[in-house]
Amino acid sequence: MATDINRFAAIIAHCKEYGFIFPSSEIYDGLAAVYDYGQWGSELKKNIKDYWWKSMTQLHENIVGIDAAIFMHPTTWKASGHVDNFSDPMIDNKDSNKRYRVDHLLEAKADSLEKEGHEDQAEILLKEMDTLLAANDFDGLKRLIEQYKITCTVSGTGNWTEVRQFNLMFSTQIGSVSDEASEIYLRPETAQGIFVNFLNVQKTGRMKIPFGIAQIGKAFRNEIVARQFIFRMREFEQMEMQFFVRPGTQKEWYERWKEQRMQWHLSLGIPADKYRFHDHVKLAHYADAACDIEYNFPIGFKEVEGIHSRTDFDLKSHQEYSKKKMQYFDNDIDEATGKPYGNYIPYVIETSIGLDRTVLMVLSEAYEEQDLSTEDRKDSRVVLKFPPKLAPIKLAILPLVKKDGLPEIARSIMDTCKPHFRCFYEEKDTIGKRYRRMDAIGTPFCITVDHQTKEDNTVTIRYRDTMLQERIAISEILTIVQSAL
Ligand code: ATP
Repeated sequence: MATDINRFAAIIAHCKEYGFIFPSSEIYDGLAAVYDYGQWGSELKKNIKDYWWKSMTQLHENIVGIDAAIFMHPTTWKASGHVDNFSDPMIDNKDSNKRYRVDHLLEAKADSLEKEGHEDQAEILLKEMDTLLAANDFDGLKRLIEQYKITCTVSGTGNWTEVRQFNLMFSTQIGSVSDEASEIYLRPETAQGIFVNFLNVQKTGRMKIPFGIAQIGKAFRNEIVARQFIFRMREFEQMEMQFFVRPGTQKEWYERWKEQRMQWHLSLGIPADKYRFHDHVKLAHYADAACDIEYNFPIGFKEVEGIHSRTDFDLKSHQEYSKKKMQYFDNDIDEATGKPYGNYIPYVIETSIGLDRTVLMVLSEAYEEQDLSTEDRKDSRVVLKFPPKLAPIKLAILPLVKKDGLPEIARSIMDTCKPHFRCFYEEKDTIGKRYRRMDAIGTPFCITVDHQTKEDNTVTIRYRDTMLQERIAISEILTIVQSAL
């Protein structure tokens, strides 16, 4: 049985063995912090994506979706502040040349202090770190590293460089001539594609404030510390929504979105005690309030989603850089003055969730190793208890044997069900082995076609979580599976 410490490693191994997630270009020994989704991983990811998209756009009449390009005009990133500010303080060890994110180094020290029973010291250290980070006090951060005698895990020495900022954006060249003017960035967040299209969408969609624009897409960050599987990747996907509101109402909307997003997380069937909010002490350059929704991964509580009150920073800055008006005319009457609110640059509440981190969260929650041994027989299984709506395959259709007309009946059930949801047909191996394989990829229902089926048109349905089996009519299959979805 995997303990909490090696549970993470067990999940990673399971993902590879069962076709969920592979290291990128593995035949060349992989590429650090880049991963490929396999046949079942891509289905799981798509189901999560669709669930988020539907809950944001279909269920909110005032939210529409877009799909902006990854490449954007380079001035976008000047205006957004990413060229100047999108960086993390880093420090190098001079003996090993290994580079660390300063906050990660200090957090690891606080972790080990806590494990040794020095919770007070750990808390003081984290408080000091937050204060120094908020003040961009790099000398102070280095002194803190020295004060706690933090050493490099490779060289074992405390021979550190100065603390420096390191920009996380990837750049590349557009066109055939490589000069400075042709340098563009791979977007580090999807949000800017929404901001630059704010007026396009508002005008063509005749949107009235408050309204939102949602987007799912790739983002790229040259992460320095990248060894936590799909938790921290260099190429990943974000599901973001920017909600445009009247200035002065942002606090209220921020609280509403915090609440709504938490409800969405709970709707995944994950218990409330596995989540917590973490309020930011150091606010990003664009925010007047920010928090994270953290999930208790096997590696501890970590951020899955950020909710940020971004003020009018982005739209205002794009207005300045592009010299194009980013204003909205609000003809609702302001009760205080009796006149329309008039022209203003809207304030923005952002909800930004990592798709890959959500995949990891759903996998971590679903993964279970069960000991099924009886007195005379050792037995166990690994089961992924996905909510049926997220499971890669909803129904496996299994003829008991490969003859006597059973495959034909199974095939006809497959033909009836497959237009409605993802089904899987398999006739190889014993039925027990086939059930276990379906458990391992999280298929909630299996049906077995046997000789009795020929006589009375019934099949055995087996439920993944309870392993209970019952006899049902073929005509009931569709309704049973669909009602679980
Ligand atoms: P972190 O502090 O973990 O680096 P962040 O605060 O920089 O994350 P945001 O800029 O708020 O992250 O991005 C929104 C969401 O995008 C995060 O909550 C996370 O789920 C996801 N995300 C950010 N960076 C990565 C990454 N390198 N790999 C996978 N997902 C990421």
